[in-house]
Amino acid sequence: MRVTVIGAGIMGLSTAWALDRRGHSVTVIDRYPVPNTLGSSVDQHRLIRYPYGAMAGYAAMVGPAYRAWDRLWADLGETHYVETGTLAVGTARHQWLIDSVETLSRSGIGFEELTVDELARHFPLVNPEGLDRAIWLPTGGVLLADRIVEGLARHLTAKGVPVLAETPAQEIDPERARVTLEDGRTIEADRLVVAAGPWVTRLVPGLAGRVTPSRQVVCYVKPPADKAADWARMPMVLDIDPRWGIYVIPPVAGTGMKIGDHVFSLTGDPDRDREAAVGEEAKILEACRSRLTGFAVFGIDRLKTCFYTVQPDEKFVVEPLGAAAWVMTGFSGHGFKFGPLMGEAMAEVLDGLRDPASLTRWAAGETA
Ligand SMILES: Cc1cc2nc3c(=O)[nH]c(=O)nc-3n(C[C@H](O)[C@H](O)[C@H](O)COP(=O)(O)OP(=O)(O)OC[C@H]3O[C@@H](n4cnc5c(N)ncnc54)[C@H](O)[C@@H]3O)c2cc1C
Repeated sequence: MRVTVIGAGIMGLSTAWALDRRGHSVTVIDRYPVPNTLGSSVDQHRLIRYPYGAMAGYAAMVGPAYRAWDRLWADLGETHYVETGTLAVGTARHQWLIDSVETLSRSGIGFEELTVDELARHFPLVNPEGLDRAIWLPTGGVLLADRIVEGLARHLTAKGVPVLAETPAQEIDPERARVTLEDGRTIEADRLVVAAGPWVTRLVPGLAGRVTPSRQVVCYVKPPADKAADWARMPMVLDIDPRWGIYVIPPVAGTGMKIGDHVFSLTGDPDRDREAAVGEEAKILEACRSRLTGFAVFGIDRLKTCFYTVQPDEKFVVEPLGAAAWVMTGFSGHGFKFGPLMGEAMAEVLDGLRDPASLTRWAAGETA
């Protein structure tokens, strides 16, 4: 079967990888250079972790996602993952934490409740003031995202899969799996997969209103020299709630230390609005000052913007489009960890080995 994949982010490349493994003839196109530094998938890190609030369907997918990553590492011949463990902190009223504890307990995933004293003793780099609940998991870690996207594109190219950079699709015909490029050429195939990240509504206007590009600012910081090694040994720190919160990524494997804000902006254009203005980091820094010990002497390295493609309930949208196409979108702020798993599931459906409707439900995190 000939398949065209639009988008060389983690979703498009993973789908191409899984289809190529199944012996299909795949072509990937992207409107930007690959890796696309403006895409959602390209930055130093993305996290994978089991605590998932009340979203039990996604929590259940994390174990299978790890196994899919292992299959990818075997094919790439290298592993772009650093296990750090997961530390989630909050208060007794912190709903995301309450829900995570319930979901983890029900699913039998190992975690440990820490008292505030234990938190202070084991993780002195986290300021326990104002906290009364914490959980620790030895699992979870950092996926080295830019190295993964680059490695996947290189692997596919070496296997003879065309990954055509700077090849923008202008229009699609989902009934015939036909793509018209901006330069007027067409690409014909048997199936088409649209994995166009925050640009998706330009090719699939019917999704406007269901998914929204959301400009997010992340802040790379520099711990003081005498604490850098301690931070490199820290777990990821999650202090998140749907309405507020930050996540802290330790400086592993030569990457920077990064802090992100969990709140969706739901604004911005992924082709513009890419420079972070001075002051946009203020909320993140304020949260860091209260959560991270000695943050006053940290340096600010740089700010970066990145776009989520937000579905209001953060449920992925993986659906058929017409007779011969699928769209993969709505990955919100948590899709990267599931890239290879989603790609494999998409390939199984295209191969007729998996029920299409069940893929849509599963990708939306529905457990029943
Ligand atoms: C700041 C930030 C932090 C995040 N943290 C995490 C995390 O910790 N854990 C996690 O699991 N997830 C995380 N995510 C979410 C995750 O990164 C995304 O869900 C995922 O990368 C989406 O991948 P994608 O392939 O759908 O999109 P993209 O990576 O954006 O890829 C889409 C590609 O399609 C191409 N394209 C678009 N239109 C066209 C066209 N017309 N023709 C040709 N090509 C086209 C684009 O150029 C682009 O390269 C985070 C996201 C951000 C922004």
